[in-house]
Order: sequence, then structure tokens, then C-alpha cells
Amino acid sequence: ETMIRLSGVGKTYPDGTAAVHELDLEVRRGELVCLVGPSGCGKSTTLKMINRLIEPSTGRIEIDGQDVTDQDPVALRRGIGYVIQQVGLFPHQKVITNVMTVPLLYGESKATARARAAELLDTVGLDSATYGPRYPHQLSGGQRQRVGVARALAADPPVLLMDEPFGAVDPVVRVRLQDEFLRLQRDLGKTVVLVTHDIDEAVRMGDRVAVFAEGGRLAQYGTPAEVLGRP
Ligand code: ADP
Ligand code: ADP
Repeated sequence: ETMIRLSGVGKTYPDGTAAVHELDLEVRRGELVCLVGPSGCGKSTTLKMINRLIEPSTGRIEIDGQDVTDQDPVALRRGIGYVIQQVGLFPHQKVITNVMTVPLLYGESKATARARAAELLDTVGLDSATYGPRYPHQLSGGQRQRVGVARALAADPPVLLMDEPFGAVDPVVRVRLQDEFLRLQRDLGKTVVLVTHDIDEAVRMGDRVAVFAEGGRLAQYGTPAEVLGRP
């Protein structure tokens, strides 16, 4: 069953840069798809078109059978978690408060939001009693990434878009976060599109891997075995 479908999607920026070209991509419900390729080949642009941070120049994007351009962007983004490398945590708010922000925004009571945030911190492997009261600068890079994931999960979105989510941490921590995130994703049944420039990460994590090439073209799309088997 298709969750996300891009049909003939292209993006040319106002300055004439052709970032994405005639992209067809289909992501199934509960699937983790990695977009991989060298820097500048249109991966981030593709991700941002899915949650309408960027409008496509051509083509059509559907989520759960609905054209994203028919939806209010705010309502759309409520169903789409977005995790980026430089997690923009509020520096002057405690970790727990950072995660509570989203439920509060959606009208939860403070007590409910706090309980939900604590549960999410525990879910991503940060003991909420220990780390909830701390401030972001008192956490390691890997821990801040976890807070970013917890915050993205706070609205319980069916879809998660992740842009180099493990890029800012050292290699050992990265592998641990990758494994833990995979377990979490399977447990929660989220549909995930993850951008990385690291082919090892892509084949390790992706149910399927979309290999981007220069000029925002899709060079390959298949399972890790398929992608590795046809160099
Ligand atoms: P990737 O995520 O694969 O590194 P991007 O999607 O960020 O690639 O960028 C694709 C291309 O579009 C690059 O050539 C980049 O320089 C260009 N680009 C990205 N954002 C903009 C922008 N706002 N205006 C003009 N060009 C941009
Ligand atoms: P990770 O393996 O997630 O990268 P680190 O090795 O960077 O973790 O950090 C190890 C421990 O040190 C963590 O429990 C973290 O909370 C703590 N820590 C890191 N930086 C600070 C800081 N500035 N203040 C207090 N504790 C910190």
C-alpha cells in the first residue's frame, strides 16, 4: 500500500538551479526509504517538497492518496515529523519542555503534554527523570539527536522525514542510534524517508534505497541487495 507517491516531480529554483528532475518515487506504508547520493544532488530538496517547505515546479506529490497541494500546509505538517541534523532545540528550555511544545501547541493540557513528553524521551532511550530537567547544552550530540526524534514523534505523525539525522555524531554513536532508531521505527510502524550521503547508512537502514545522481535524477531504486548488486 502506497503512503507517499511522487510523480514526475521536478524543482528548479528561481536562480535557475535545476535541483530535482522528473522524479518518480513511491514509498509504502511502514517502509523506511533512504535517499542517498553525493552532496547537491537534490535529496534535501526532495524531502522538503514532501512537507511543502518547498513547492515543486512540476509534478505531483500524494500522501495517503491525497495531493499535498490540496491540504493546508500546517495541517499537512502535523502528520509529518521532520528531523534535521542541526536539531533546533530551544536552548533556554529544559529538554522536557522542548518535547512538550508540540502537544501543547495542539491543545493538550500541560499535565498530558508533560506525561507524553516523558514517555517519548524514555522511548528514544533518554531516561526522562534524568534528562528531562536538563538543558540542551548539558547533553551530548547523540542525546540531542534523540531529543529531536522525540520531538518529531510528539504529534504521533504517520510519516517521518529525516535529513542526515545521525550526521552530527561520531561513528560509534551513529551506529548505535541507527540500530535503535530502526527498532523504534519497526515498533511504531512509521513510514520514514531518510536522507543521507552515506551509502553504508543507506543500505544498513533502508528497506529500499533511492540512489540520486547529479542533477537530481534517480539513478536506481531498489532493495539494498538490488542496489549493491548493480553498481
Ligand atoms: P542535497 O540534499 O542532495 O545535498 P539539495 O537538495 O540541498 O541537495 O540541493 C540540490 C541543488 O539545489 C544544489 O545544486 C543546491 O546548490 C541547489 N539549491 C538548494 N537550495 C537552493 C536554493 N534555495 N536556491 C537555489 N539553489 C538551491
Ligand atoms: P554520546 O555517547 O551520546 O555521544 P557523550 O560521550 O558525548 O555521549 O557524553 C557522555 C555523557 O556525558 C552523557 O551522559 C552526557 O549527558 C554527559 N554530558 C556530555 N556533555 C555534557 C555537559 N556539557 N554537561 C553535562 N553532562 C554532559
